[in-house]
Amino acid sequence: MVQQSAPMTARILDGKAIAGRLRRELAEHIRRGMAGHGRAPGLAVILVGDDAASQVYVRNKKNACAEVGIVSEDFSHTLPADTSQQHLLGLIAELNADARVDGILVQMPLPAHIDPEAVIEAIDPGKDVDGFHPYNVGRLAARAPRLRSCTPYGCMKLLEETGVDLHGQEAVIVGASNIVGRPMAMELLLAGATVTVTHKFTRDLAAHIRCAEIVVAAAGKPGLVKGEWIRDGAIVLDVGINRLPDGRLVGDVEFEAARQRAGWITPVPGGVGPMTIAMLMANTVQAWREHLGDIAGETTGDMP
Ligand code: NAD
Repeated sequence: MVQQSAPMTARILDGKAIAGRLRRELAEHIRRGMAGHGRAPGLAVILVGDDAASQVYVRNKKNACAEVGIVSEDFSHTLPADTSQQHLLGLIAELNADARVDGILVQMPLPAHIDPEAVIEAIDPGKDVDGFHPYNVGRLAARAPRLRSCTPYGCMKLLEETGVDLHGQEAVIVGASNIVGRPMAMELLLAGATVTVTHKFTRDLAAHIRCAEIVVAAAGKPGLVKGEWIRDGAIVLDVGINRLPDGRLVGDVEFEAARQRAGWITPVPGGVGPMTIAMLMANTVQAWREHLGDIAGETTGDMP
């Protein structure tokens, strides 16, 4: 769903509305699937410690589950900050073996004494609905994605909404983290774009952005991407979420200046954020269908 703004300014990619539509489609899908299979998808959400932001994220994810008909509360766990790694790995092993659980999500960041890689690798890749397990990252890199990282997957859905053919597009990603920049590069490459990944060692970010027909900003630095750098008509996806001292939430892109030049742009909040949660729901439904034997692993056609 898109909104037409005033002439000469970018069209807004309304992630909130698009995510709402996706959730309604998933709810309908679950309702029909339940009739045949007799059980709803199950998502276990594990929170370790009492990080305030993590508590909000976990609550939003559980609310989204309830809205679409994914069972989450029954399988979810809130553990104290001093939980041992061994205990957490034991819980993951139990959830891996529980046939009612289709997805397992361990909210990051974990307390410092727990190794996040060991935790991610302990999750059954078929239940890794965050798409962080090296198996799923490797599947995407090898052009045969299975469960895809939620934020880049959500960005691809937003790009789909523009109707723009991605083949041969010049795409520039700002940031190279495991959860956003890197899988985003693999998604765009898979879609046939020509991809540049910039990061903190990049010498001239402006020069890269000026050439970009697609910009994905994910550095976590407010105002890093200047509006004047944006190429006319570019698609700008702002993944960044930054809290300013005055309390406002902003992205990594100078929104007002960028929208004077871009063809499409996501707002913050209400752009990429809601899509991330919608794709977590989509991944859980996909894992459920795989576990019930509805579908085999996904394959993709016409790849570069
Ligand atoms: P991160 O800190 O792990 O990675 C940041 C990346 O930005 C690094 O690769 C770093 O090299 C790069 N970077 C730093 N300075 C740069 C510069 N000057 N030029 C180019 N690159 C630079 O962060 P992350 O976990 O990938 O998150 C990035 C942002 O996205 C944060 O604001 C985070 O809150 C947000 N985020 C949003 C969602 C969502 O659903 N909307 C999901 C995940 C992350």
